Amino acid sequence: MSRYTGSVCKLCRTEGEKLYLKGARCYSDKCAYERKPSTPGEQGTGRRRRKTSEYGLQLREKQKVRRIYGLQENKFHKYFVEAENDNGITGEVFLQLLERRLDSVVYRMGFARSRNEARQFVLHGHIEVNGERINIPSYNVKEDDKISVREDSKNKDTFQEIFDINSNLTPPEWATVDLENGEGTVVSLPTREDIEYPVEEHLIVEFYSR
Ligand code: SF4
Repeated sequence: MSRYTGSVCKLCRTEGEKLYLKGARCYSDKCAYERKPSTPGEQGTGRRRRKTSEYGLQLREKQKVRRIYGLQENKFHKYFVEAENDNGITGEVFLQLLERRLDSVVYRMGFARSRNEARQFVLHGHIEVNGERINIPSYNVKEDDKISVREDSKNKDTFQEIFDINSNLTPPEWATVDLENGEGTVVSLPTREDIEYPVEEHLIVEFYSR
């Protein structure tokens, strides 16, 4: 299955809620969902969702979270299997594993405007973990890991602009961030309470448990 390359704003309209895939734009009046919340192909501007079955609800919730993290189905499902094999609460462990991806951590620390942009930064070698360049977006970040934008990258206009845009960003509870210097530390692992978007993970557990 290939990666989705269409308009990400269309995904928000399809899911019937904001998925925050475009960074600062999502919080501005330029947000496409705020301007036209109807499902693609439907007329009108109401935020109505079509009546859907239990299965439909589970599928939509799964698709929503998969789109937030920009993952293909096989990779997304692997995280679920890993969570199922863990001793913790499956839904919570699942979300935690997603949140611990390096690209997600780079985004949450404010070094990118979206998870998609963070993934590109990791792939292009702009990010270090504990002083070592890591170009694997799925790298599983651990407690005490120090995440930084590479020295020769942080002065580039792109990063300076991002640091500026995100200067008022409140870092997540589980991290300390020095945005000006493009570095942050994972002081504890993210928990269920740290997930920044509304999600009913039990629906995803039910979907994959069918
Ligand atoms: Fe979704 Fe952000 Fe686009 Fe709004 S601007 S529709 S929240 S991706």
